Amino acid sequence: MKSEAKAETKGQPLPVQYVKGIGPRRSAALEAIGIRTVLDLYFYAPRRYLDRTSILAIRDLRREVSRERLEALKGEAAPGFVGGRTPTVVGQIRSFRVLGFGAKSRFVLVLSDGTGSMQCVWFGGVHYWKHAFAVGETLAVTGQPTFFGGTLQFVHPEFDRIAPPETEEGSPVDQTAVDWGKALHTGGFVPLYPSSQELARVGFDSAGFRRVIYSAIKDHLNEVEDVLPPDIRAARRLVSLPDAIRMAHFPRAEEEMERGLARLKYEEFFQFQIKLALKRRWSREKADGIPFNVRSSLARSLVDSLPFELTRAQTRVVREISSDMESAKPMNRLLQGDVGSGKTVVSLIAMLIAIENGYQAVFMAPTEILAEQHFKTLSSLLGRMPVTIRLLVGAQRTTLRRDVLEDVRSGRAGIVVGTHALFEKDVEFANLGFVVIDEQHRFGVVQRASLRQKGRNPDVLVMTATPIPRTLSLTLYGDLDVSVIDELPKNRKPIKTVLRDESQKEAVYQFVRDQVNAGRQAYFVYPLIEESEKVDLKAATVHCAELQEKVFPDLRLALLHGRMTGEEKDSVMGKFVRKETDILVATTVIEVGIDVSNATVMVVENAERFGLAQLHQLRGRVGRGSDQSFCILLTSSWNARRAARAGTPEAAQLALDQHRLAERRLATIVETTDGFVIAEVDLELRGPGDYFGTRQSGMPEFRVGNIVADATILQDARADAFSLVEHDPRLLAPDHRALAESLRSTFRGQLALLEVG
Ligand code: ADP
Ligand code: MG
Repeated sequence: MKSEAKAETKGQPLPVQYVKGIGPRRSAALEAIGIRTVLDLYFYAPRRYLDRTSILAIRDLRREVSRERLEALKGEAAPGFVGGRTPTVVGQIRSFRVLGFGAKSRFVLVLSDGTGSMQCVWFGGVHYWKHAFAVGETLAVTGQPTFFGGTLQFVHPEFDRIAPPETEEGSPVDQTAVDWGKALHTGGFVPLYPSSQELARVGFDSAGFRRVIYSAIKDHLNEVEDVLPPDIRAARRLVSLPDAIRMAHFPRAEEEMERGLARLKYEEFFQFQIKLALKRRWSREKADGIPFNVRSSLARSLVDSLPFELTRAQTRVVREISSDMESAKPMNRLLQGDVGSGKTVVSLIAMLIAIENGYQAVFMAPTEILAEQHFKTLSSLLGRMPVTIRLLVGAQRTTLRRDVLEDVRSGRAGIVVGTHALFEKDVEFANLGFVVIDEQHRFGVVQRASLRQKGRNPDVLVMTATPIPRTLSLTLYGDLDVSVIDELPKNRKPIKTVLRDESQKEAVYQFVRDQVNAGRQAYFVYPLIEESEKVDLKAATVHCAELQEKVFPDLRLALLHGRMTGEEKDSVMGKFVRKETDILVATTVIEVGIDVSNATVMVVENAERFGLAQLHQLRGRVGRGSDQSFCILLTSSWNARRAARAGTPEAAQLALDQHRLAERRLATIVETTDGFVIAEVDLELRGPGDYFGTRQSGMPEFRVGNIVADATILQDARADAFSLVEHDPRLLAPDHRALAESLRSTFRGQLALLEVG
């Protein structure tokens, strides 16, 4: 039966249930983490490898940790890091039990390795852990060691099952597992795989993965086809794909491990980039877009009416955009520019060109507040020009909404500003020709496509205020052309940024007072600290009252927060804009869009709690005029130290880790105002997944490759893929036939054009 089915699916990847040991339950569990085929399984790479050199004897670990603890007491080092490495111990389970009751209960497991013994502790989930282990089982345990009441401990360590207990007759339960246990003693490598409680429940703990991947390789590796053209493989000195799979999972030497993984990473990146390259190439061959006439009197009169000259960078970008618009190929352009670099005006110029050609334009923002703000900005830039602009957001009254929709449908509305509400079915355009998407990273690629369908191939301009690291824009926006505004308007002075401790608060207050006396205005921003917005609001309210009464009784303060209605916010902001308020105390709502050039001081309280991108955006609220501006980051390192001492060892560890990350963020913000540099560090600290909140963003997820750590491989793969498509856009060369075939079967509908060739 099985082999028949297999024959039918020839040319297509084999589903995982054909691997020995994988039944319906297990294949469902794999499906849930995106593993459908045997090939997917091969790309489930080990988290790391265990070899003899990475294992520490418990006796040595104890010695190291004691020594470091002494140094820490003397203030020379942080405790628990064993020279910066995360140590691994391999031992047998001697015993385990649950200690304490209710919320305080914990699961304690004693591990020994012949040189000594230590404890592993889990708080919570004790009933799960009670059934998770067997006495006599061999574990590899990795974590941050601590002493607790004189006992050496790992709290919530990572662990891998190396071998099950031997049965009484000495015959092992699972021979392969025991073999792996032995591999350690003979100098081999044991691959350790990522797992989770859900996966472990169906037998996919690290050892479970090891077993099925081993049997998949044994039985099916010869079915793997290497579609990478031989000349690329030779030029990049890559091992063949089947070899790479074997080497990455079961290396016989360190070099094999590296070469195997390198090829898997390259493969992933190449497969992704080849699709981008083909899509981009084909979309350029099409000429089904709108050829706009870019000589526009509307755009001209806008530029003439501006109280400033466009910067050189703005002028260059306007030229790039209008030459796209002039062409019959649909535009697909990304505009990157730091906060305040003047993207809005540029987008309006483009929209006016579209309108003059008889088309409508859409401006889409990620949030309602931003949509409203853009609506106001654009309306005031338009002044008395004969262009109707309308706002469409979710929270509008039905009658108003109907009215707006009618204007959109009839074509009366030239510009429509909105949020994702623009995607809804009842929104019909008379003649949509131009789409501006602000802050693209919050939208998915999919949404980009669906808005495009509202018109007949409108030109699309994607704008982002968060500069995107190069590596990311290559992967995310690989099919877009990129324009960059890399120059701030001339009248801006670089903002001075300083870090101050809470203890220096008085001096900071005095500084703010001096600035206000000199006619300037200031912001005080508080982070969201508590889970509940209500509690935070209360904290901000109390802070504001305190500042008013105790610190600045003679100045005019006002509070701005996220729970205010639009009208309340407008009224508070209005006063600040008219200089009727000296100091605006705000929760993070201020982050976006607020634009008051007389405000020169930004004080960020508890700055350690903000993310890098947030800090950068906040700082962008000052420095918008010609006066010298300042950003003061107040932190409380004392709090961090106290947190590190309090609570469970786990809580302390977490606090220390967070403290380190916060230090990196603050140092970066102080050091540079370059949004691109900040974005690179942010990406590095947060990892690519978190950076964009992966799933909704439509960002590709790579299993083996990491777009930050493996940026070089990514760039190589991209260069190779693009050059291949450049020379052979329809993949007709004999060396490219296998590649074409694999793309055709995997991406049928999407790559229909391949068939045309
Ligand atoms: P971005 O959207 O890139 O953050 P904006 O378009 O909001 O920036 O522009 C920030 C501010 O700078 C606005 O008040 C805008 O009117 C002003 N501005 C834009 N271009 C220039 C320029 N060339 N010279 C001076 N001010 C400018
Ligand atoms: Mg803007």
